[in-house]
Amino acid sequence: MFWSYCDDLLAQIRTGWQDKKGDDMSTDTLIRPEIKTSGGYIEDIMNIVKAKNPAEPEFHQAVQEVLESLRVVLQRHPEYRESRILERMIEPERVIMFRVPWFDDAGNIQVNRGFRIEMNSAIGPYKGGLRFHASVNLGILKFLAFEQVLKNSLTTLPMGGGKGGSDFDPKGKSNNEVMRFCQSFMTELARHIGPDTDVPAGDIGVGGREIGFLFGEYKRLRNEFTGVLTGKGLNWGGSLIRPEATGYGCVYFAAEMLKTRNDSLEGKLCLVSGSGNVAQYTVEKLLDLGAIPITMSDSNGVIFDPDGFNREKLAWIMELKNVRRGRIRDYADQFKQAVFIPSDVKLGYNPLWNINAHCAFPSATQNEISARDAANLIKNGVTLVAEGANMPSTLDATRIFLEAGILYGPAKAANAGGVATSGLEMAQNSARLNWTREEVDDRLHKIMIAIHRNSHETAEIYGTPGNLVNGANIAGFLKVADAMLDQGVV
Ligand code: NDP
Repeated sequence: MFWSYCDDLLAQIRTGWQDKKGDDMSTDTLIRPEIKTSGGYIEDIMNIVKAKNPAEPEFHQAVQEVLESLRVVLQRHPEYRESRILERMIEPERVIMFRVPWFDDAGNIQVNRGFRIEMNSAIGPYKGGLRFHASVNLGILKFLAFEQVLKNSLTTLPMGGGKGGSDFDPKGKSNNEVMRFCQSFMTELARHIGPDTDVPAGDIGVGGREIGFLFGEYKRLRNEFTGVLTGKGLNWGGSLIRPEATGYGCVYFAAEMLKTRNDSLEGKLCLVSGSGNVAQYTVEKLLDLGAIPITMSDSNGVIFDPDGFNREKLAWIMELKNVRRGRIRDYADQFKQAVFIPSDVKLGYNPLWNINAHCAFPSATQNEISARDAANLIKNGVTLVAEGANMPSTLDATRIFLEAGILYGPAKAANAGGVATSGLEMAQNSARLNWTREEVDDRLHKIMIAIHRNSHETAEIYGTPGNLVNGANIAGFLKVADAMLDQGVV
């Protein structure tokens, strides 16, 4: 009996059938011999990612998180393995890398590097922001583009995924320098983008000013006025609520998470990191919903206002950051009850995440919450984390949140309101119409409710109720994967 069982098993292995590791053995899970089983298959894909993309740890991290969520999907749907959907999704459809030479105000030639990652166009034109920051490199943009594919899928709108940018840092540059850089950057990028091909937007270091310069140059080169970029000015094709959308959407998402526990944001102490676009409008919407935001930050340090921000204080911060382009430490000089805690890498943790509060809204940058920070948050009473920034939590921090059973809204679901409203800007541009503020805000709100419901229900369907990381990854993946199956091997 035992030996005949062994013979059967060996025969199965020889013919390339699946082993028993975590998979059911029904005939519809049989796969081609060279394609390995789901357990080993995920590890194999990770090995490919690491071997083919060395020195890109952020890209590895983003792929790893998604693959962990997809194990159960691959067991239920062998067709994705057979069609090599994962192998195709980890490979960008196109990577464009180019030189960006420009003159600084002293007449010196400066040279930066420009990128556009056109990751996946299965469900629509490539869509995703441009980041201008000294830390930008290929791996960071590939992680962002990979995340963007699944995020855009979740928005319910027809948008593929892309991301781009440059290692140019606008901080400390004059307006003329920023303009000359943007014009040189667009001189090359214009060949690759278009309203039905690839529609970039803003991200870190790219706000309304930069989008204006980029759009002006594109229009001049192509002699056409189209919706080729989103985040445009209101009087030249922009959408109301686009600047607010990522922050507002993140807070709407947090409110939906709280509803599942019959709770609300009213009276909740909230930690917000960053002081740029996402952080500012997160604070604004938190105030609208009766919460009490108490922190903001920039790369130089953290401000903690124990009295909480109000609308006047927020208006002061917006003027500081968007007009005077100053540093957040100035807030503590202006408002004496607040303290400024300078950044200190030697500390080993971020003091912002070590303050007593109920909710946390990381809104600065990737990996800003380490495992130690996550443990501090939980120790200090935080029971909700909604990610405004992209991948702000390390894999270990994410595990800590999930194991603690707190409400955890991962970036690709919680911050999808920005790109969703970019999609609404594209729709208005195509129809040559402008919707009212109320109409756009209402659509944004409904989209965030839908993203939460979809992620929540998908997590349940795939056996991990409450785990929105799995829910968002799986729901985002399924739509793209099915479109790829429909469109053949391209
Ligand atoms: P901004 O450039 O407007 O603001 C970024 C903020 O984060 C600044 O306060 C900046 O401080 C801080 N920051 C950036 N890098 C670091 C760092 N390495 N260490 C500490 N602080 C840092 O960008 P956004 O607000 O647009 O973007 C913030 C995050 O939200 C990013 O992760 C972005 O990808 C994500 N996001 C943005 C969307 C959008 O619509 N804008 C949409 C979806 C996600 P400093 O000025 O000192 O650099």
